[in-house]
Amino acid sequence: MRLRNVTGSREVIAESRFVVQDPAAQKGKWSVLFGNQNPIHIEIGMGKGRFLMALAALNPDINFIGIEKYSTVLLRAIQKMEVQELPNLRFIRMEAEELCAVFGRGEIAQIYLNFSDPWPKDRHAKRRLPSRQFLARYHEILAPDGQIAFKTDNLDLFEFALAEVDVAGWKIAAMTRDLHHDETMSAGNIMTEYEEKFSVMGNPIYKCIIYR
Ligand code: SAH
Repeated sequence: MRLRNVTGSREVIAESRFVVQDPAAQKGKWSVLFGNQNPIHIEIGMGKGRFLMALAALNPDINFIGIEKYSTVLLRAIQKMEVQELPNLRFIRMEAEELCAVFGRGEIAQIYLNFSDPWPKDRHAKRRLPSRQFLARYHEILAPDGQIAFKTDNLDLFEFALAEVDVAGWKIAAMTRDLHHDETMSAGNIMTEYEEKFSVMGNPIYKCIIYR
């Protein structure tokens, strides 16, 4: 996501009560932070947080954590929470490679990957969020019956994800190459910022749900 540098975003983040400042200190005890035993769902690369905010408002019995590496982007999500505070939603500013330092084994019930960066060069394949390297990290933090829901408008990234799922021994629970015209899979769909932008341009949205 390209945004001009917003002055002071790091300072706002450092002071925000919606942001978990020392996420590694919460490893294995996220339930304590939320004050309940509800399942925890995370979105990796949440952008400005629209998807998670809608989901958190609709599902008060689930705890949500949004992960975003860029402070200028995360700042937008914080500003939205200041307008509509949701007790079951927190944010972390971090690079997804650190996931296993922040979440304990099986601590997460569901992972959302929405419109992840494509990293088109072959030598950057391991940086793609559905890569086998990331699937190995998700395997650690995801509960045995946990799932990953992946949406994108990028066909190359989608095909890559399906191939990686196979290599890593994960399974596909559901899949569509045109989410918005798939009656079953689009039921209850919550649009992300990118999803709206790309579907308005006429791009089909690809989605798969995977488990192991
Ligand atoms: N999920 C949002 C934003 C998609 S853009 C939507 O669908 O509208 C992808 C976002 O993921 C960007 O904001 C980018 O900064 C973030 N991101 C990409 N790679 C990441 C990583 N490795 N760790 C954390 N955030 C990442």
